[in-house]
Amino acid sequence: MASIESRGIVLRVAVNVPLMRCFDYLPPADAASASRLVPGIRVRVPFGHSTRVGILVGLGDAGSTTVDRLKAVNEVLDETPVLEGEMFALLNWASAYYHHPLGEVMMTALPVLLRQGEPAVVAPVPYVRIPPDRAADDAATLDRAPRQRALVRYLRGHPEGIAEDELLRTMPGSRPYIKALSDKGWLERFSGQAPASPESLPGPELTTAQTTAVEGLIAALPEFSVSLLNGITGSGKTEVYFRIIEAALALGRQVLVLVPEIGLTPQLIARFRSRFRCQLCVLHSGLSAGERLAAWCRARSGEASIVIGTRSAVFVPLKAPGVLILDEEHDPSYKQQSGFLYHARDLAVMRGRELGVPVILGSATPSLETLHNVARGRYREFVLPARTGDSVLPAIEIQDMRAQHVEHGLTRRMIETMARHLEQGRQVLVFLNRRGFATSLVCHDCGWMAGCRHCDTRLVLHRRRHELRCHYCGYRQGVMDQCPECQGTRLRALGFGTERLEEALNQAFPDIEVIRIDRDTTRRKGALDEILGNVRDDRPQILIGTQLLAKGHDFPNVTLVVVINADQGLYGVDFRSSERMGQMILQVAGRAGRAEHAGEVVLQSYHPDHPLLTCLQGHDYAAFARSILEERRETGLPPYSNLALIRADSTQALRVQAFLEAVADQARAAPVPGVEIFGPVPAAIERRVGRHHAQLLLQSEDRAGLHRQLNGIAAALETLAARHRVHWSMDVDPIEIC
Ligand code: ADP
Ligand code: ZN
Ligand code: ZN
Repeated sequence: MASIESRGIVLRVAVNVPLMRCFDYLPPADAASASRLVPGIRVRVPFGHSTRVGILVGLGDAGSTTVDRLKAVNEVLDETPVLEGEMFALLNWASAYYHHPLGEVMMTALPVLLRQGEPAVVAPVPYVRIPPDRAADDAATLDRAPRQRALVRYLRGHPEGIAEDELLRTMPGSRPYIKALSDKGWLERFSGQAPASPESLPGPELTTAQTTAVEGLIAALPEFSVSLLNGITGSGKTEVYFRIIEAALALGRQVLVLVPEIGLTPQLIARFRSRFRCQLCVLHSGLSAGERLAAWCRARSGEASIVIGTRSAVFVPLKAPGVLILDEEHDPSYKQQSGFLYHARDLAVMRGRELGVPVILGSATPSLETLHNVARGRYREFVLPARTGDSVLPAIEIQDMRAQHVEHGLTRRMIETMARHLEQGRQVLVFLNRRGFATSLVCHDCGWMAGCRHCDTRLVLHRRRHELRCHYCGYRQGVMDQCPECQGTRLRALGFGTERLEEALNQAFPDIEVIRIDRDTTRRKGALDEILGNVRDDRPQILIGTQLLAKGHDFPNVTLVVVINADQGLYGVDFRSSERMGQMILQVAGRAGRAEHAGEVVLQSYHPDHPLLTCLQGHDYAAFARSILEERRETGLPPYSNLALIRADSTQALRVQAFLEAVADQARAAPVPGVEIFGPVPAAIERRVGRHHAQLLLQSEDRAGLHRQLNGIAAALETLAARHRVHWSMDVDPIEIC
């Protein structure tokens, strides 16, 4: 029957290739498969000389098509769609909005095993727990085995059991202790999961501001709306999320919680786990492909009631969605920076609309886009203006660096301030957003500077490894003793990074442990957790970090936060530099004095009277944001206009230029009123990894107009790129334009 039905039809398939169009195929020969042909299923199709996995996106009438030229689908991979209803609609919208090929968009949304054509099912994972009959036993017999006792303590926090892999990740190196406990009958393995239970543990009594927010947000539960939860650090936003989650769970709904990459810490997950007894799945970059698929399946089946994940979790299917929560909504890690350049915040808002569920955006330092949407009445806003309990916001001091004696980036006064806190047994967090030892190596005699041979950048000196490294392409070489230009031997380190700061602080405070936390010290898997494990609340320590440290982790004994170079953002090249700087400073400031000790924040600056710094000094993010918004309004930048950036690169600069000029000509030939075209211009760092980069910027106050213009050049882009042999990408709503 089905084969007869399917005779006159053509299947439209989105294939994972960088081309905007979809491809037509004939139905597979076997009747059994043909009956399953519904949009959203995966099919394996012949493509060029090989086969690819694609998504069936539509069925058409063979009608006018020259059917005899078409090939048949090789295989139907799914019984039921992997991309259903709202997700299917969302991805179609996203492909059109971001002007990105539908096949790539759809594949980005799927776990990697599904992209490869593996079945959308999970093998049961081994779980471990304390046998229920030993739950109340005294663990004193384990007194001489502290690691085992620690495991028992941890497992008692998870009476429902925990996946063995996850346990091994949380407590690295615990495999032998798991075995020992299992031999003693303290631990049992079981497959699958204990059933979910909706109960949760009680939280603290809410503050008035929290109550208002919770009531307002719960009232919104059954339908779509977007709300900003605007609360300073430590104001209890997480507690508000918890109450909303409880309300959603009580309605039998699932909750999706998105957090920035750096925010997804064991601390946060432990907080969720100790509050909720329901099944919870966590999606982060450390998962294996199998675990990722398992989490995806558990969310889709409804087995997991709470799904927590980073950016790409915005695509996780939910059986009974109730609310979408995006914490630290201003965080740039929500924007995907390669391939399909989506913004998870914007997609979450669209998804909430498709699903008809509320979206909650939380932040202490909301993005200007979101504040603008609040001002226009599109988003609701709930403000948590004060910290909970007795903890107060740290005082922010701006230290004038002009005419000061500065050594390794630190003034004498700063060293004294640090000593004062350390002497009291407290910890100091020093923040510097630049890793390595020095920004460059320079010849004192002729001025030569070590540069990358593949990029227009200076090489960064990493002294400990005796290496010069390019932070763009990864090129590295040993440090030379002589200047290659003048053979002089007076090579000096110029500028400073975290490594140099570490050295300087080790010298200034020989008795104090200095812990450096940046990408160089945390590259290895599990290294970050290990280093954080060395941070001890009971002793003075100095923590040095890049933005890795700016959020997510609580350091209760940190009472002083030092920002070495607060000017970095004030005069940054990108139009978002100052916004980012302010957000970062207030976020790091939020790390200080969160427990019972009052905190202090010191910013070093050569422009201590800068009005933006003055706003930050008063913890007045609202005034800070207003001031920047005013500037953006005057200059017509987002959120007062919409941008799209077309980037291109090639080994030959002329090709890039010719391609982008041809694209600009196309656009100018069919102008859309209100759309301005800027460029092409070379990228801020023109040559990277041996390729020349340039860009074309399109700007319009009218979003629809901008998209009409982009649609007008979409077809030409592919042909022109092929002709000029360049790589190119389209970035709609770019977060950086330099
Ligand atoms: P945020 O997410 O806004 O930074 P948190 O939710 O982490 O703030 O709250 C900061 C601290 O205050 C946490 O230790 C939390 O347990 C506590 N807290 C939150 N709400 C209350 C409340 N209503 N009463 C007492 N303590 C609270
Ligand atoms: Zn020289
Ligand atoms: Zn390089």
